Amino acid sequence: MRIVIYIILSKLNIIYPKLLGFGYWYYKNVFLKKNLKSYNPEQKLLKIVNRAIKNVPYYRDRYKEINSLSDFKRQINFIDKDEVMDNWEDFIALGTSKSKIITGTTGGTSGKPLKLVIPKNRYIFELGTMYTMWENVGWKGQIRAVLRNTKLEVNKDYIVNPVKREFVFDGFRTSDVYYDIVYKTMKKYKIKYLHAYPSSAYQFAVFLKNKEYDTSIFNAFLCGSEGLLLEQKSLIEDQLGINVYNWYGHSEKLVLGGYCKNNKNIHIEPTYGFFELIDINGDIINEPKKKGEIVGTTLHNQYMPLIRYRTGDYAEYVGDYCKDCGRHLILVKNIEGRRDSNRIYFKDQTYTSITALNMHGDLYTYINGMQYVQNKPGQLIIKLIKDETYSNQVEKRFFEFYENTLGENCDFEIQYVDELLTEKNGKFLPLHQNVKL
Ligand SMILES: [Zn+2]
Repeated sequence: MRIVIYIILSKLNIIYPKLLGFGYWYYKNVFLKKNLKSYNPEQKLLKIVNRAIKNVPYYRDRYKEINSLSDFKRQINFIDKDEVMDNWEDFIALGTSKSKIITGTTGGTSGKPLKLVIPKNRYIFELGTMYTMWENVGWKGQIRAVLRNTKLEVNKDYIVNPVKREFVFDGFRTSDVYYDIVYKTMKKYKIKYLHAYPSSAYQFAVFLKNKEYDTSIFNAFLCGSEGLLLEQKSLIEDQLGINVYNWYGHSEKLVLGGYCKNNKNIHIEPTYGFFELIDINGDIINEPKKKGEIVGTTLHNQYMPLIRYRTGDYAEYVGDYCKDCGRHLILVKNIEGRRDSNRIYFKDQTYTSITALNMHGDLYTYINGMQYVQNKPGQLIIKLIKDETYSNQVEKRFFEFYENTLGENCDFEIQYVDELLTEKNGKFLPLHQNVKL
């Protein structure tokens, strides 16, 4: 009975996300609008860095006040997760009041989680920016279905959050019976947006394809937190015609960016955090096609300020202007998670990245999922879920593709499976790398 009331309340609640308060309203409707076309973060950056140099032991012990962006680049060294873990106490601003903060951790699929201190009002810049990005696919607060890392009690198909206008489904149930419930519930309540990990959205899309269900009921799939893989894009966008909105973000909340309406490069939001892309020598990349590591500096968290923090994520530089939306901001593409987890090792212990194994053409349409597993350098297991259309001819093409791409460097084996491996937190890794070098 309660769920019926919650559904009614969700429908009546037309003020979300406006009800997030004046701070949120002002940030989204005045600050972000004013700085939409271009934003110079220098003043804000200097303010937060100098405040850290004054109040945060880690920085106070190392730096003197800076006066310009070039001072910043010349004087402040990069840090990473290990550095923060080793000096954790020193990263917290002196006199931080418990009432102003909350704590969280980096989720992560590898390594120890990092404990983070975050301002309580972080939703202002966090949701203000995210919800502005989602407007690119027409989302303005409409009811959303959520298929992420929630595990529900066995007797519940979904729960409803009337405040955030969400129908939350179980991200760990992947049976056809359950996906049927998801689809029919979305159809019944005319829910046009699905907020999901790309891997969850993909599994759901495989189901939609097999059932030949009408996918025109969806406006868009909001797919972040993982990169969008080519097989996912091929099925959801090209075959099923569902618009996908993909974005990049990470748990330390220093960098956020996503597509615009007509351009599928990642637009790094300059008001969210200060972004740099660095090469192996720590030099800043601003040339198209060059790849480097994403480095972020907070513009909003004075309580545990992370400055020039190496995220371990990599991207390719595209440019600093988008002609489709007319915004001056940094564009990147081909974002890869922690590099180690994307490496496929050859027999001689050199390596390639999994993006080097991107297939061209229509091969993705013959499968309903794929994943790489590596237990030894020079040996690769390719797990494939076959579609009905997967024929001997197609199999031959897969073998040819891998023979040509991997060559003498790496033996491979194709395993046909019904299910792929997922992590405890519900996330999907395209490569299970068990080799430690
Ligand atoms: Zn654009």
